[in-house]
Amino acid sequence: MADTHTSSETDALHRRGLLFILSSPSGAGKTTISRMLLGADDEIALSVSATTRPRRPGEIEGIDYHFVSDEKFDAMVEEDDFYEWAHVFGHRYGTPKGYIRKALKEGRDFLFDIDWQGTQQLKQKDDQDVVSVFILPPSIVELRKRLEGRGQDSPDVIDARMDRARGEISHWAEYDYVVINDDVDQCFVKVREILHAERMKRTRQTGLIPFVRGLME
Ligand code: 5GP
Repeated sequence: MADTHTSSETDALHRRGLLFILSSPSGAGKTTISRMLLGADDEIALSVSATTRPRRPGEIEGIDYHFVSDEKFDAMVEEDDFYEWAHVFGHRYGTPKGYIRKALKEGRDFLFDIDWQGTQQLKQKDDQDVVSVFILPPSIVELRKRLEGRGQDSPDVIDARMDRARGEISHWAEYDYVVINDDVDQCFVKVREILHAERMKRTRQTGLIPFVRGLME
């Protein structure tokens, strides 16, 4: 009897995974929030993008990005290896399809740290599995301060990123959720609550039908 009970519970827990997108203008905190989420939650893994951009100090191949040559990127496009890809700041970035589709069926979630173009493409390909969150900075002055504080980019690059930030922000209304990153800890809690609630969505809990049938017998 106890065994039956345990297995019913396990079935009820089975769910379809989701594609959790975090977007924001560069410097608004999505990378920090992504790392906090990955550290706190075992059920979500990062979708590692491929890029033709050169590696920055401290970045690790296969963890931050797959750093590939223009020729290799061309070949991947040719082979239809990408879920989506886009030009950003003169370089190309793309999401390799890999095992994502299979993993979703097995109930694994993926985190995407991608821009609005990638979000639109992912939504077009797989709207039902996508949950998109846009992170806004508390102000444009604060955003510039955060970009300068990184100390990684030249003033010209920062100006270009600020221009791009305004363009990126103009897409806020295309997202399912919007969170203002005034305080990074509070922002993290809100993003985590969104993820938890989305996992409980009836349509994602594929094990519910047999479970509820069992309850009604
Ligand atoms: P960064 O060079 O600062 O790491 O990233 C620059 C921009 O490229 C960010 O806005 C980031 O979200 C975006 N990006 C990173 N990976 C992908 C991807 O796979 N697809 C798309 N469309 N954008 C990406």
